Amino acid sequence: MFPDPDGAQHTDDTTRHGGRMRSFPHQRGNWATYVYVPLQPQEEFLEMLDAVLEAARRKGLRMTKMEKFHISQSQTVILRHHWIDLFVQSLREGLSAMPRFLCVADRVKVYTNQEKTRTFLGLAVTVGHQQLLEVVSQVDKSLQEFNLETFFQNPSFHVSLAWCVGDCAGLIQGATLTQLQNVVDEFEDSEILTRFYAEEICCKSGNKTFTIPLR
Ligand code: AMP
Repeated sequence: MFPDPDGAQHTDDTTRHGGRMRSFPHQRGNWATYVYVPLQPQEEFLEMLDAVLEAARRKGLRMTKMEKFHISQSQTVILRHHWIDLFVQSLREGLSAMPRFLCVADRVKVYTNQEKTRTFLGLAVTVGHQQLLEVVSQVDKSLQEFNLETFFQNPSFHVSLAWCVGDCAGLIQGATLTQLQNVVDEFEDSEILTRFYAEEICCKSGNKTFTIPLR
């Protein structure tokens, strides 16, 4: 779909982007692009995360902490370099009139990527789902304009906290999942730490990040 006969290929280093793995090789002129709500957690959120990961470690699960936190509003798609500005302009037109909104992400949940080569421990959104659906609906319109894959039909909005290699979803279920949830629920001020305001939407394309403030 995006032929680039002179494109150089290289091996992707997943540790540089929080476990996200491309299902396509990098080619010059093709930019890995995704849309998300950025989150700036409080310092105590990171302490809560350490406590969750320590509990996971006691269950034999070693996971790598995310360096940055977000709620995805698209899958990772590839954009030709010369389409980036037009794509961001389309996002701006669809999103900039939207009001800011509150999200609560407090339900421990496990995700795998489509290739099942990575497992993510996340906090699923329990407040803000409707507004996130509205954002995704606008983002999907822009993606469709550029013939790109839209987001999940039934999205489970979440904040990924940590990741590990392979499909470990089976190890984080039942009593283990309940224990991790208890760590969150019992952490001091967890009700405050799991509240986030969606104030802007970001689009990262290659090494460039574009910010669209909400109203
Ligand atoms: P993220 O941190 O947003 O990149 O999400 C981590 C992984 O969750 C991604 O690789 C997604 O493909 C995966 N995932 C699996 N099922 C879903 C779903 N229903 N909604 C959103 N993400 C999902």
